[in-house]
Amino acid sequence: MEFQELQSILNNKSKVIIVTHKNPDGDAMGSSLGLSGVLKKKGCDVVVVAPTEYPDFLNWLKGNEEVLVWGKNNKHIKKSINEADVLFCLDFNALHRIDEVGELISKAKGKKVMIDHHQQPDDFVDYMMSDTSASSTAEMVYEFIEKLGDDDLVDGNIGEALYCGIMTDTGSFRFPSTTCKTHTIVGKIIQKGADHSMVHRRIYDSNTQRRLKLVGYCLMNMEVLDRYKVAIIKVSKEDHKTYNIQKGDTEGIVNYGLSMPHIQCSVFFREDDDIVKISFRSKDDYNVNEFARNYFNGGGHINAAGGMSKDSLEVTIDKFKKIIRSQK
Ligand code: 5GP
Ligand code: MN
Repeated sequence: MEFQELQSILNNKSKVIIVTHKNPDGDAMGSSLGLSGVLKKKGCDVVVVAPTEYPDFLNWLKGNEEVLVWGKNNKHIKKSINEADVLFCLDFNALHRIDEVGELISKAKGKKVMIDHHQQPDDFVDYMMSDTSASSTAEMVYEFIEKLGDDDLVDGNIGEALYCGIMTDTGSFRFPSTTCKTHTIVGKIIQKGADHSMVHRRIYDSNTQRRLKLVGYCLMNMEVLDRYKVAIIKVSKEDHKTYNIQKGDTEGIVNYGLSMPHIQCSVFFREDDDIVKISFRSKDDYNVNEFARNYFNGGGHINAAGGMSKDSLEVTIDKFKKIIRSQK
């Protein structure tokens, strides 16, 4: 499908679905609600779908109350997906990443659009915007809005949603993916009324005492393999009970490992009921996307990826260490 065709459908008050990845983060929800704000102003009927719940520190985003969550609003989601003229897939690039919602999307009759910055996209869409060098999906959504000729519709609230996505995915503008273009777009967003300082506070000054104690506990137990420049942080099933861990609490803890200058890769292992979820973060050309893909059923970006294991926490960490030791 040519861009012009998509543009003309969107100019005709069409029915739109915007879906993002599981365990949505700041970029997933920020890009989705930013795009939805603009398309609503154009007169489209827009439904935003999250495949799972997301952390409370994203609840201030404009449009949050209308987000449909799989597991809570299934009937409504099925109906909206079936009836949609256009289905946007934001911040993910493979339908298997969103389970049942992905199956519904793959059967849907409407035009499918991907806007995403992860590695190795699956080609399941009619119009694909995939840029693995982009800082965030939110940055790409801003460019998409400009391409539609609708940047005049970006107001303070929409800008704050996009700013949230760009800020969180760039680690507050410090990852190498942050470019001159990123700052130019953010400049435009601020000019349109986004309160950037408020966004920062809402996201980062959202700790509870419980979470700070959990961070303290995790860092006390962090293992550092100096020789391999690797830091390992973990949370077990039992810790979930002891620390009363809530959704979102473990978000971001992996980054602490990288704050040591000599550490090239930080890994966070979180043991749930039947799987261990793994988060990888790295510096420079240490490719954790490849690592997660090759050994832990996952993927993501070169410097930020995720994966999983069906073994116990201890077995998973042992396997990880063996791989690390066997590599150069
Ligand atoms: P996080 O560690 O924050 O959960 O994820 C880091 C990055 O890796 C995100 O961009 C996320 O989309 C990606 N990611 C996380 N888990 C998986 C996974 O199981 N498979 C794939 N392909 N990507 C993942
Ligand atoms: Mn992203």
